[in-house]
Amino acid sequence: MKEARRPQKVPQTAPTAHPSRVADPTLREVWDRLSDEIRACRKCPLGATRSNAVIYRGGRAPRLVFVGEAPGAEEDRTGLPFVGRSGRELDRAVATLGLSDEEFGMLNVLKCRPPGNRFDRGAAGTCRPYLDQQLDLLRPEVVVTLGARALAAIDPNALPMLSAAGRPRTHGRTLYFPLIHPAAALRSRRMRERWERDVRALGRWLRERPA
Ligand code: URA
Repeated sequence: MKEARRPQKVPQTAPTAHPSRVADPTLREVWDRLSDEIRACRKCPLGATRSNAVIYRGGRAPRLVFVGEAPGAEEDRTGLPFVGRSGRELDRAVATLGLSDEEFGMLNVLKCRPPGNRFDRGAAGTCRPYLDQQLDLLRPEVVVTLGARALAAIDPNALPMLSAAGRPRTHGRTLYFPLIHPAAALRSRRMRERWERDVRALGRWLRERPA
């Protein structure tokens, strides 16, 4: 599919822009209960093969939430998202955005590592309510999707990955900014250039948005 040439009209203030509800002590309890439920989850076969469910890393009231695809080996070992090679790439990119540690968070579509790192679409369907509840509690101003699977999870009608990446988009009430997956930047020079260019575009767009 060809990308429409007309620039997409994107609101500069997010329709859902308000402080995360997880900063509220009562909702903090809801978050903690949800996290316990994810940790105990055995609703799909990945529950039997994981070492740790991987839930969230970041601030309680993040302006930006990065949504990845699925935990890898390091994430499975530690229970934290994006702590392996692609996580280090992502951390380097986040450092260029000028956000404090409290202002961003990271999570995944799948909460458990799929064997062989093969994304499991069936498991993604089962896991879906967890993603929805997490985003509903965090209420970030912007969701940054990382890679095609995360993009499809946030916007099933999205343009193909390379057409969508690098510009803010909306789906319903969700304001999101697609990026390619940081692991892609580690695989080829062309993708590294694309990753760096789109991260710069994200930084520019964040700086230019009204607070
Ligand atoms: N890749 C992802 O999509 N998520 C992680 O947490 C790590 C690698």
